[in-house]
Amino acid sequence: MERNFNRGRRNFDSGPREMHEVTCAECGKQTEVPFKPDGTRPVYCRDCYQKRKPPRRY
Ligand SMILES: [Zn+2]
Repeated sequence: MERNFNRGRRNFDSGPREMHEVTCAECGKQTEVPFKPDGTRPVYCRDCYQKRKPPRRY
């Protein structure tokens, strides 16, 4: 089954997120991210991402 209805749109509020398989730029582990890697920025797995980007405090 193909889903083309959300092509080119960013609907973060509704519908399932499309997962993209990537290789972490930090540890080299295979992982999935809920956004499409644009190739210009390194992609990290969940662990490395959180290590690099500490949660904000509001
Ligand atoms: Zn990693």
